[in-house]
Amino acid sequence: MEIVWFKRDLRIRDHAPLADAAAAGPVLALFLHEPEIILAPDFSAAHAGFIRECLDSLHAALQERGGELVEMTGSAPGLLEQIWQQQPFATLRSHQETGNRASYQRDELVAAWCRAHGVTWRQSPQNGVIRSQDARAKRDWIAELDAYSSSEPVKPPRHIIPAKLPAMPTGFVAPLQVAGHDKPGRMKGGRAEAIGLLTAFMRTKISRYPYAISSPITAEHGCSRLSPFLAYGVITMREIVLAMNRRVDSPELAVNEAERERLISALRFFADRLRWRAGYFQNMESMPQMEFDNIHPGMNGLREGEFDPVFFARWRDGETGYPMMDAAMHMLHHTGWINMRMRGMLLSFAVNELWLHWREPALFLAREFVDYEPAIHYNQMQIHAGTAGAGSMLAYNPVKQAQELDPKGIFVRRWLPALRAVPDAYIFTPWTMPPAVQTTCGVVIGTDYPAPLVDHLDAARQARSRVGDAQIAAGMRPQSVRGRDGQKVAGTSQVALF
Ligand SMILES: Cc1cc2nc3c(=O)[nH]c(=O)nc-3n(C[C@H](O)[C@H](O)[C@H](O)COP(=O)(O)OP(=O)(O)OC[C@H]3O[C@@H](n4cnc5c(N)ncnc54)[C@H](O)[C@@H]3O)c2cc1C
Repeated sequence: MEIVWFKRDLRIRDHAPLADAAAAGPVLALFLHEPEIILAPDFSAAHAGFIRECLDSLHAALQERGGELVEMTGSAPGLLEQIWQQQPFATLRSHQETGNRASYQRDELVAAWCRAHGVTWRQSPQNGVIRSQDARAKRDWIAELDAYSSSEPVKPPRHIIPAKLPAMPTGFVAPLQVAGHDKPGRMKGGRAEAIGLLTAFMRTKISRYPYAISSPITAEHGCSRLSPFLAYGVITMREIVLAMNRRVDSPELAVNEAERERLISALRFFADRLRWRAGYFQNMESMPQMEFDNIHPGMNGLREGEFDPVFFARWRDGETGYPMMDAAMHMLHHTGWINMRMRGMLLSFAVNELWLHWREPALFLAREFVDYEPAIHYNQMQIHAGTAGAGSMLAYNPVKQAQELDPKGIFVRRWLPALRAVPDAYIFTPWTMPPAVQTTCGVVIGTDYPAPLVDHLDAARQARSRVGDAQIAAGMRPQSVRGRDGQKVAGTSQVALF
């Protein structure tokens, strides 16, 4: 019996463990609902809902090839022991996982269980990660990533012979209850959804992509929206790269050189994001402690002890008094997705203007983002908070962001219906409305919509100086402070990862 343990790799294509197992004999395809993962503070009902749909889709794909997905609930070593008691096996196959600490600790326990039982655990690499103590120092990681990305995805097995297990005790299939509610506007999970999005993106949206990503209005339909599918491994980077190459080679482009050049430039822009993703995975693999600790220890003590729970609650509930910020938070509450610029604005306001340590906002956002991916998430937390190293810290002016990205107030009015009647002149700074205007439009600040929680310019100035001083005191070189709205403190450019 060949055991394939599905984790964050819910697909049958480009799945080396499944292909190898199916070639070797009858397959027990397993998914484990593990309390250590599900009850962790970064997991939410929205994740559970998305995973459920992806599992249904995986099950159907396995069935089409004669196989089936067996789902069990419990801790991995205990469940493996139960299976082994019923039918000993020699090999466990899965993908490597570069996830949160809960998954890492679970993997250590599973590795120990395998050693104790003489089981070989074959873990195939994924996401272009090189697993070793300090992979980048030892090997040319970028060259390996490029080689991985441009190689052919592994074909799915044509036929799977399911392994027959005697019935397991019923306790193993009882679903675990996840606290909270799923999101009404959440994207649906499943392989067909992922392929549909990829096809539509490559066929029509990619040319406009570089111009669509910043504004939350255009990003909603102009970005690929593949992130949750990548996060749960429903689709792989390699499959996306293959689709990109096919697009470049499509016959209609052969006759239009200018159009081809435009498309290639948009594809390169998109590929940069996939490479950032891979870079963050490699960082997380080398520095898993970034989930809990500042990447640069010199920044320890900077925000600790100053956490204001009222600030946190108002930020979390979308009640900061800054319309662009609150509208973005409301969209996130409803859908579980928001574009990158808005994520950056939300987070930077929490960790800089509100001076909250990044850990609580990180956990809250992790539960909100259906595409929560620890490797990307914690790198981003620390870059925005200024704890990642020299010159890191990103701050966005919420008023300027609104003026640039939502000039007519369409996004703000859509997600903050209370502000619909506010005149254009005040839509991003409603606290400046004279009392007579407040009465006329029926929006009284402090009653119908909150007054600003802090003076954002003042708060940003203070945060910049505290982070800058701490970085210098920690022996980091000061870097240039520039940005499109004068608020962004550059230095740890994402591209610098490469
Ligand atoms: C504070 C903060 C937290 C974030 N947390 C997550 C997270 O938990 N999970 C997650 O998938 N993304 C995260 N991102 C990155 C980015 O915002 C999302 O990947 C993107 O918005 C997802 O939408 P999309 O699939 O339409 O992206 P597209 O713009 O279509 O990009 C395609 C893919 O490239 C990758 N990508 C895009 N932007 C980035 C980036 N800045 N860094 C790394 N990879 C990127 C993603 O896998 C994405 O699906 C975070 C960004 C910030 C600023």
